[in-house]
Amino acid sequence: MRQPILPCIVCNRKMDYLWPEEELTNVDDGVDFYMTGCYGSKFDLQEFTAILCDTCLETAYNNGKVRFVKEHDILF
Ligand SMILES: [Zn+2]
Repeated sequence: MRQPILPCIVCNRKMDYLWPEEELTNVDDGVDFYMTGCYGSKFDLQEFTAILCDTCLETAYNNGKVRFVKEHDILF
């Protein structure tokens, strides 16, 4: 069963899926991401997911708190 969508991890904004009836994770005006704890963290080998709204992501990027890695090709 699909879990309720999480709020933005920074501003706590309520988020929605683009297609709530589907199992797709596309977030409307936001991104979902996964974090994996590595050796050195007390969360080593544990995986988490969170959502960041586009406004907070843009602010974090502009403030040097998030690094751009790459843009993926559209898959058809
Ligand atoms: Zn936000």
